[in-house]
This record gives sequence, structure tokens and C-alpha cells, in this order.
Amino acid sequence: AALQDASAEPRESIAKFNSAAADRAAEVDRLLAAMTLDEKIGQMCQVWPEQGELTPALVESLRQGEVGSLINCPDSKFIVEVQRIAQTESRLGIPLLIGRDVVHGYRTIFPIPLGQAASWNPELVEQAARIAANEASSEGINWTFAPMVDVGRDPRWGRIAETFGEDPRLSAALSSAVVHGFQQEDDEGLHGLVACAKHFAAYGLSEGGRDYNRASLSIADLHNIHLPAFKSSLDVGCRTFMTTFSEVNGIPGTAHAYLLQDVLCDSWKFSGVVVSDWNSVIEMVAHGFSADEAEAAQQAVNAGVHMEMVSPTFHDNLSRLVEQGRVDEAALDNAVRRVLRLKLELARNDSANQSAEKSVATGATAPRPGAKLLHPRSLELARRAARESIVLLKNAEQTLPLHREELRRVAVIGPLADAPLSQLGCWSVDGSPADAITPLAAIRNAVGDTVEIAYVAGMTSSYANRLTELAKAQKAAEQADVVLLFVGEDAVLSGEARSRMTLDLPGAQAKLVEAVAASGTPVAMVVLAGRPLAIGAEIDAAAAVLYAWHPGTMGGPAIVDLLLGDAAPTGRLPVTMPKHVGQVPLYYSHSNTGRPSPADFRPLSQSQGKDLPAEFQYRSHYVDGDPFPLFPFGYGLTYTTFCYDGFELGAAAIGPQQTLAVRARITNTGTRSGVETAQLYVRDLAASIVRPVRELKAFRRVHLRPGESQAVEFALTADDLRYFDNQGKSVLEPGKFAVWVGGDSTAALGGEFELTTASDPSSQSA
Ligand code: BGC
Repeated sequence: AALQDASAEPRESIAKFNSAAADRAAEVDRLLAAMTLDEKIGQMCQVWPEQGELTPALVESLRQGEVGSLINCPDSKFIVEVQRIAQTESRLGIPLLIGRDVVHGYRTIFPIPLGQAASWNPELVEQAARIAANEASSEGINWTFAPMVDVGRDPRWGRIAETFGEDPRLSAALSSAVVHGFQQEDDEGLHGLVACAKHFAAYGLSEGGRDYNRASLSIADLHNIHLPAFKSSLDVGCRTFMTTFSEVNGIPGTAHAYLLQDVLCDSWKFSGVVVSDWNSVIEMVAHGFSADEAEAAQQAVNAGVHMEMVSPTFHDNLSRLVEQGRVDEAALDNAVRRVLRLKLELARNDSANQSAEKSVATGATAPRPGAKLLHPRSLELARRAARESIVLLKNAEQTLPLHREELRRVAVIGPLADAPLSQLGCWSVDGSPADAITPLAAIRNAVGDTVEIAYVAGMTSSYANRLTELAKAQKAAEQADVVLLFVGEDAVLSGEARSRMTLDLPGAQAKLVEAVAASGTPVAMVVLAGRPLAIGAEIDAAAAVLYAWHPGTMGGPAIVDLLLGDAAPTGRLPVTMPKHVGQVPLYYSHSNTGRPSPADFRPLSQSQGKDLPAEFQYRSHYVDGDPFPLFPFGYGLTYTTFCYDGFELGAAAIGPQQTLAVRARITNTGTRSGVETAQLYVRDLAASIVRPVRELKAFRRVHLRPGESQAVEFALTADDLRYFDNQGKSVLEPGKFAVWVGGDSTAALGGEFELTTASDPSSQSA
């Protein structure tokens, strides 16, 4: 036996995957050297156990090392078993990556990402991700397909619900916070879930808002708008990226060498794993890009995809493609190294704590029973996150907060007052509607014994019933001191493949709003939706409006906290709200035409909008409605008011290495404490590529007591003034810039400064 060469070595004698290896790079090399071609290909395959059970075929694949990862396992018992098979019955004992869409919570469901974005609070979204990671990893999941960091500018697109909104800077700040929260990285490795920034890239640009559709854009737009949140995710160590289904300038994201190779791996030095999207490799055939499945596999691997999700083209074709020289084995080695490195990072220190027998389930693998699902602290954070995601859009005559002590009769009306499933929002497969506390339940809990509550859902499918329901709702409204009206979208109307061509309240809800408003009783309307809706008429009809997105498990109590004034709203729109679907896409950081819009996109009052002044003729506008939004990006009211003054710049000019201090004073001019989100916007007044009329560069939440003033100072760096040109190169161009500070994207307080080529312009002028 001592004379046998390595290739004849009995298979069992090769040391298995060593999760405790001190030198991970050496362990990766060792494993790779020991792997057969088929075992390498196996690490590049993510399999979906479609039947939801451990079939003999799956067991055999696991034993043969043909599976690197599983997606959507039915439960944690299943996970323990597949890990056991992979780790003890396969030749090399390599653990599995267990992937799932843990998007905005696992059992404790937080607001949809668009709602979380409305908090403008990176620390909060990081904590939410941490809880999601702890809950999911307690059941053996170790990889989440989140955060989705695509920029969403088209509310028809159902997946806008999963975005952090329209702005690259805000998306970047929140994406990196979420990655941190999921991965919980320290020197030893990853303690939470591996994060996945998706969908690389420009998926949010799906034409017409129709899902999976083409994106056609300049290289400058790609880099300036769609890539920053991916880059910020990577900068905090995001280990995996997912390709986009869509074609980007004619090339499907799954075979996009410019994106995957040139940008991600070469320029950004990404060392993690690129996974395709669900079936997106095989779909390149239908897409009209690959002649057949073999070519799809070849194109994906050669462009830089390291793992195929669900479709079997890698499994079925890669070994032949290597034989034929169409794919280089070095490309497979590169992919497998990345996968193994990640598995070692995940498997890390847990193994130290495992006894010999238990070592089956090490790090990457072991359900971590530490975290309780739906822990009271998690629910409390979910309540806070929901509260901070809600945007107060209107509050005529201080309708809100309600005064508990004056309430006698409250009418709770509308199809979303008691709709636990819809409250959770899209991608909450592991959340249970039974855990959700609805607004109706929360109101009853809060005031039920002292206040009479009349509840009318107000909607049924049959027309005849609808009329009676409307009449009932109106009657209940007439008899109440205040109406709490819950309208919006069911959760199934947003998310993947849930695009809409209208942005109104579905069904007969507009009629319901009308009927309730006709009662004359003040109406506080709460909108639950996965996108900004164009519902100006309904907003006009209500006295107060809270926009609550899909707020998650604790949405009901959070809404009631705000209605009753136990907390004050702090949310700000992460997306522009259009007046009409025909304006879409509508976003604040548009560019001017040569015929500038009045006042740089500041909304006109409704009446002005209906009858555009003569000077707007032959401008970029519509003849049948004004081009302005219903509410601008960054907008949100609270129960007090703020005023900005004292704008000041630290210098009139800065050099390319310098920082400009931008100061303003904010005063709480109302009678309640409140949180103001101060926002800083910049415009490059003349540039080699036309730049947006304004771009968010920084924001800060400031807490102020009544009457209190506080100076805020932002440090604007020359780097903040960079942009990417059409070669994808970052440039810094001298010239004049405008800067504003204020409470939304229409902020008027500001000034101008210059960026010069002199390293210190102040010393030059002195
Ligand atoms: C979606 C991804 C998701 C994947 C796995 C795809 O259809 O586009 O965002 O992560 O499915 O569920």
C-alpha cells in the first residue's frame, strides 16, 4: 500500500473538510488538490429540494459531493440531516451553504425594505438584520439572499418594495448597515448569515416596471446610480453577489463579463461568491442569448458566475465543457476556492465548541439554538422599526395625535385594518400571520375598555354587498368622533413579478374613502402598500395621512403608537410620490433639460399645477397635468415643526483634498419634542456629463425639544463631488457647486462654493 500513488489512494484516506483549520488558505488548497472534477462542479451547484423531502436521488447527490448548496429547505430537521449526509457520508465532508430569502425578518417580520428605508436610520436597520440573522441561523440557515440593493425608481415595478428606494446614497448607507447586521463579522469569521447583494446590476431599471425586463443605460448611469449600493455592501465585506435576470445593455446579467469580471472582480477585488439568480443560467437560452444549455453554462462560468441557482446546466455540462476546452478548469478552481473559503469562514470557531460526535454539525451547519424566535426584545425592535418607517404625509389642523381622553367612539374602517397577512408584506414566507398584531387588535388593546370601537372592513367582492358595506362604513363614520381608515394594497400586489400598471387604491377603495369622507367626521387615513401610490384625491379627502408601507409583525401597535401620540412620526419618503402613474419614472435627482423646470423641481401648489403658467410652455412637462410630485423625496411631517436658518459654508472654495464644512441651525418651533432628518444636497452646476439637479450627499437625524435649536455641521469632502464618466472612471472636476440643507429634497436654504485644482485655495487667496 505504501507504494500506491496518490491517484490510487483509497478515497477514505483523504482528510475531510477541517472547519477548525488554523490556516484557511492552506485548507482550501488542500481540499482543491484532493477534489475530482465532478466534486468541483458539485460545489458550484445550488439545488432546490423541490419535493420538500429528502429523496433518494438527493441523498445520493449529497453523498457524491454533487451539491454545494441547497435553497429553500423545508425545515431545520431537514437541514440537520442534509448537513449530516454531506459532512459524514461524502468523501470530503464539505458542509453545505443553506440559502433562503430572509429579506425583512425571519419569524419576527420587520417592515418591507422600502419601509425600513423610510426610517433613514442605518443603525436601526442593522439591528433588524441582526435579529433576522439570529432567528434564521438558529434553524440552520446560513446564507440569505439579501439585501436587495437595486435602486427603485419605478413604482409600477413590484420589487420596488424590496428596494431602499430611489437614491444611491441612502441605498448605499442602508445596504451596508444590513450587510453588517446579517454577517456579524469579527476576526474569527462570520457569526450570522452570509449576505448577498442583489441583483447585480441595474435590475431596478426593468423597462416599463415590468419585472425581468431589459435595462438600457449609459455606463455613467450604471456607475453613478446603480452600483454605489453594491460597492458599499462590498466595502463592509458582503461575501456574495447575485446576478440580475435582466439584460443590461443587451447582455443578461448572468453572462455579463463587464459587470462580473471587469467591475466586480478586477476593479473592486471581490473575493467572494457570485451566484446566479433562480434559473437565470438556463433562461439565457429563452432570452435569445445562448444557443443551448451547454452554451449558457459556458457563458455564465466564463463571465464570472461561481454558483448556479436551481437550474442544472453546470451539473449537466461543465465536465464536458472542460474536456472540450470551452471552459478552463482554472475557472472552476477559482469558483470552488471562493466557495470553500466562504464555508471555512462560516464554519469557524463553532467547531471549537463542538464535541467529537457533534462535529457533524459545525458552524456552517449547526442550527444555533441560542436565538429565540419572536423574542420580546425582537418584537419590541420590530415595533420600533415599524414606527420609524411610517411617514406622516398630512396632518390638517393637528388631527393627530388623537387625544385619548377625548375619545368616545372610534370607527375603524377599511380592508387593511385587520389583514395580518398583508401587513407582513412580500417575502415573509417564514413569518406567520398568526403572530402579527393588526391595527384593529392594537387599537382594542390600547383603548378598548374606555372607547367604543365600530369596525367595518368595508370591502367585499360582490357589487351588491359592496354598496351595503359602503353605506355601513359611512354610517359608522357618521357616528364616530374620528375615523381610522386603513386602505392600500394587499401584500400580493408587490414583490417579485407583481408589477402594476396603475398606482391607485385597488378595488373599490377610492369609493370607500369617498363614502367615509362624506360623513364629515375627521378621517385619519393609514395607507399600507408596497410602493408609493398616486392617491392625491384620497389624501385630499382625509384630514391626516400616515403612510405605513407593509409594516410587519408589529405594524398594528406601531401605527397605534403614532395615532395616539405615544410616539411621534419620524419617517421620510425614500421615494418620490407621483401624482399620476403617467409621470413615472419620477425622481428628485433627475437632470434638467436645456429648458429648466421652474424652481428646480419644487412642487407647485395643486392649483398652480392644474393651470401651468405661460412660461412653462415648451418645457419638459405634460399638457394634461403638472410634472411635479405629490410629495418629494425626503419628505415627512411630525407632531412638531422645524425651521432651518443660519446657513453657512466653512469656505468659498475647496481643493481636491479638502473638506467643506456646511452648517445650518435647526429649531424646533412647535410644542412637542421631535426628530428632524436634516438632509444635504449638492448640484454640480456645469460638468462634462450633465449632472442631476440635486443629489443627496449626507443626512443626520437630530432630536430637538420644543424651542430648542441645534447647529448641524456636515463635512462635505471633495470625494463627495466625484462622479463616474462614460468610461466608468471616477472623475473630480473643478467648478461651481450649489449646496442645500433642509428637511427634504426641495430644501431652499443653501449657497454656492467652488472646487478648485489648487490644493489649498484659502491660502492662495490670502
Ligand atoms: C429572485 C431572487 C431570490 C431568488 C431565490 C428569485 O426569483 O429574483 O431575488 O433571491 O429567487 O428565492
